Amino acid sequence: MLKTGRATAAGVTMSEAPETFSGNRALMLDEALIFEVGTRETTGVDLPDVPDVRMRLGGTERNKPIDLPGLAEPEVVRHFTRLSRMNYAIDMGVFPLGSCTMKHNPRLNEKVARLPGFADIHPLQPVGTVQGAIELIDTLAFWLKTLCGMPEVAMSPKAGAHGELCGMLAIRAAHEAKGDARKRVLVPESAHGTNPATAAFCGYDVDSIPATPQGRVDLAALKAKLGPDVAGVMITNPNTCGLFESELKDISDAVHAAGGYVYCDGANFNAIVGKVRPGDLGVDAMHINLHKTFSTPHGGGGPGSGPVVFSAALAPYAPLPFVRKGDEGYELVEEEQVAAGSHKGSFGRMVAFHGQMGMFVRALSYMMSHGADGLRQVAEDAVLNANYVLRQLEDDMTAPFAESGPCMHEALFSDEWLDGTGITTLDIAKAMIDEGYHPMTMYFPLVVHGAMLVEPTETESKANLDAFIDTMRALARAAKAGEVERFHEAPFYAPLRRLDETAAARKPKLTWSEPEVAKAAE
Ligand SMILES: *Cc1c(COP(=O)(O)O)cnc(C)c1O
Repeated sequence: MLKTGRATAAGVTMSEAPETFSGNRALMLDEALIFEVGTRETTGVDLPDVPDVRMRLGGTERNKPIDLPGLAEPEVVRHFTRLSRMNYAIDMGVFPLGSCTMKHNPRLNEKVARLPGFADIHPLQPVGTVQGAIELIDTLAFWLKTLCGMPEVAMSPKAGAHGELCGMLAIRAAHEAKGDARKRVLVPESAHGTNPATAAFCGYDVDSIPATPQGRVDLAALKAKLGPDVAGVMITNPNTCGLFESELKDISDAVHAAGGYVYCDGANFNAIVGKVRPGDLGVDAMHINLHKTFSTPHGGGGPGSGPVVFSAALAPYAPLPFVRKGDEGYELVEEEQVAAGSHKGSFGRMVAFHGQMGMFVRALSYMMSHGADGLRQVAEDAVLNANYVLRQLEDDMTAPFAESGPCMHEALFSDEWLDGTGITTLDIAKAMIDEGYHPMTMYFPLVVHGAMLVEPTETESKANLDAFIDTMRALARAAKAGEVERFHEAPFYAPLRRLDETAAARKPKLTWSEPEVAKAAE
């Protein structure tokens, strides 16, 4: 039985809600796996029998049923709609994940992306028939370069992490072109996990740089590690403590003087877009997550897109293909042109075609609907909202870098305020689910204990932020008042309660097998 203690519509408080006969809870419907609701005998389509033909597959043809469950069309629709209602989405409520920028995806973007001239084209179509689409890629590229103050951009990478790979491969190509195979890449300890992973994937030894007590890169420690074997640094700015790396220009100068390159993780560009140009800070390569800064959907909602801007020093090593305006209109520079002599430095190509067209359309719609002043306001409001959350909650929770001045786009809390309560960061996250909020980012960054990282984004209204703050404050006070059960047992209201997350990650069950009972009955 579920203890709710909620008032019913009639004003009667029900301490014990009855278990329903159907297993459903009001309009929240329970749903079994598709293998359990479907049967192999059912099909949603009516196809003619296969005529008697001679197989020409050399015996490789399947001669057993495919063994997938079948459902009629309305059942398929219901199955997936029911499942989707167990999920949480940016279209349902505040999604305070830090370092992820889950912001509203404007519907105007969706409308433009569905125009047939963008939606119904194929990457293998002759370039002459898709001039408008290629012009759109070029226009978006122009604005990305302008906003970053950098001369080149690779549009094809398909996510932030993929963009990091692109940038680091260009850095490696640049060193190799000079016959200088350097071995080490410096990465701050507060870095996003993808940074050291990317450097290691490119064959580099990762050397970590400590943070100062104020939560920024320790410039002196970084300088001490520079040497002739350092290929470059990877620095997130704004960093994952939610702070602006105010010494980035000094860092870049020192790295350049030592013959290295500066990779900037620009996933958090939404905090500085229209305010700061990374090129002015000495950055050589930076990925931009269109699915964060420029509001294209991410996660289950759509593919990511991670264009990479380059400095003049790295531009010759950028990947193929890229768009060029020629006498005959727009053209795509591909391997053939490289073989013919130009762009020999390019490290090659990262994807089959030209990148995420649908995301390019959405990102450019977003830019054009905001304009220069609007984009600047995006950054200002993202920072304002994060500081509002930080200041409203710092008395009830611990804000470890509150002394370092205002934060950027995200507010970082440690678990110090939970000391002695017997309650952990994980328990707080689970209790947030009961309150109807997706948890914030937990236990990251590692520079503070039991981190809780909140990014409200600029698309939340003050009313939404106040409701979120009230909930967090009430939870914090309940935790300190010793309401341990509320936290240890949470979530009470989720379709499933506490799951063994370690087992789910380490030993995922990726296949379904028929329960023995059902088999025996056949
Ligand atoms: C999101 C993020 C990434 C990775 O981007 P993906 O598109 O998820 O691959 C890298 N660094 C930082 C700081 C991020 O926030």
